[in-house]
Amino acid sequence: MTGLPLLLLDVDGPLNPYAAPDSRCPEGYGTHRLLPQSWVARHAPLSREEVEPLRVWLNPAHGPELLALPYQLVWATTWMDEANSLIAPRVGLPELPYIPWTNLFGSDPDRLHWKTRDLVAWADGRPFVWLDDELGPQDIEWIAANHPGEALPLWVDPRAGLHELHFAALREWAEEAPC
Ligand SMILES: [Mg+2]
Repeated sequence: MTGLPLLLLDVDGPLNPYAAPDSRCPEGYGTHRLLPQSWVARHAPLSREEVEPLRVWLNPAHGPELLALPYQLVWATTWMDEANSLIAPRVGLPELPYIPWTNLFGSDPDRLHWKTRDLVAWADGRPFVWLDDELGPQDIEWIAANHPGEALPLWVDPRAGLHELHFAALREWAEEAPC
């Protein structure tokens, strides 16, 4: 363990602004056609050969910008280990640990996001920031009540992806959060 706070990083939304206006590739991003297992699974019963690849927009500046932050980076994404093979090389990140989900796309009795309980269990009390385009007020409340360490769940607009304001918030929080 490094003693650094964790940065739990979603792919679709923060790194891939899939909802960008007019379906246009945002400036600074490149277009990739990828076929992650989670995308194939969503199209069952179609076989892998029958599924149209997923369009993914990625910005190669994001890896170096994230690595410059005082955090331990962790994938918190449906891509799971495929984030290492398919996303990391395209944004300039090394292989990172990832959170294995037990309730992928599942429902929750308290209407939490399906990632929230696994994510808090995985963090195991360590301070973390969670960047995601799908977290909601109920997740923020539940984390505050159930995670014994400091935590900052930070919503990212999937129309815009990561922006300077997120990097500024991450720098500021790392300075203030006790490790
Ligand atoms: Mg997402």
